[in-house]
Amino acid sequence: MAEKEPLFQTEGVVLRTTDVGDRDRMLTLLTPQYGKLSVFARSVRKITSSGLSASQLFAYGKYTLRRGSSHFYLRESSVLETFLGISTTIEGASLAAYLCEVADELTLPDVECRDMVQLVLNTLWTISENKKPLYLIKGAFEFRAAAIAGYTPDLRGCAVCDKQSLGDNGMIDVMNGRLLCSECYQSLYQKQLQSAYRPDLNTPITDEFGQPILLRRLTPAALAAIRYVLYTPAKRQFAFSVEDEGILLFRDACESYLLHHVGHGYKTLSFYKSVINEST
Ligand SMILES: [Zn+2]
Repeated sequence: MAEKEPLFQTEGVVLRTTDVGDRDRMLTLLTPQYGKLSVFARSVRKITSSGLSASQLFAYGKYTLRRGSSHFYLRESSVLETFLGISTTIEGASLAAYLCEVADELTLPDVECRDMVQLVLNTLWTISENKKPLYLIKGAFEFRAAAIAGYTPDLRGCAVCDKQSLGDNGMIDVMNGRLLCSECYQSLYQKQLQSAYRPDLNTPITDEFGQPILLRRLTPAALAAIRYVLYTPAKRQFAFSVEDEGILLFRDACESYLLHHVGHGYKTLSFYKSVINEST
């Protein structure tokens, strides 16, 4: 019986909150060892509640829970970090909401997700500190989150000729998770790229498996940035920079990579783009 389930303690980060009635709240809590949990927090919205801070969106804390039949019940909590800097700008808050929606979708109940928890915490902290450009934080999160979810590309070199350097017009083949150097890209797709081969220019270019191919251009700087994001230890995830034309290409490659692998957009992403005035 649920009442006899023992209490257990876990750390976690609040990805989503839904107020229930006048005092209660449902939390989506992402925990390293138990995955994503739905938690009912009774009376937590009373101003005198000791659990209020740890039940706010983006809060990171320690939670004592009891397992029920359809969700968990919060018994005690103590906050470890609230990332207060996030809510000082609408841009930062909307980016944080987007990454929480992505993390919510890419995780499951009762499945360990230590890497995703660490990525979410590092990303929330970096937004809160307000020392890095948001496009860099967003791109690094998107690309790393996709890799953690299992969509890991091979960024070591061109998938055809093995060259590490792709030249100025290298490509990432998004759905096949591979790189193509300028020359191999041209020789593989030259025929298809010619307009005579495609009477309708909207006809997609297809790969050798007959599937529509999605290519995003990478300059050496943009490639260096996504390699850094994928291969660097998590603690140094955001310690890089990208400049000039590389910014746009990095931003586009990371967003395309995540969205095309999950197969849809996100409402929170559209909202983030509307507040930073970037077209979708
Ligand atoms: Zn090549």
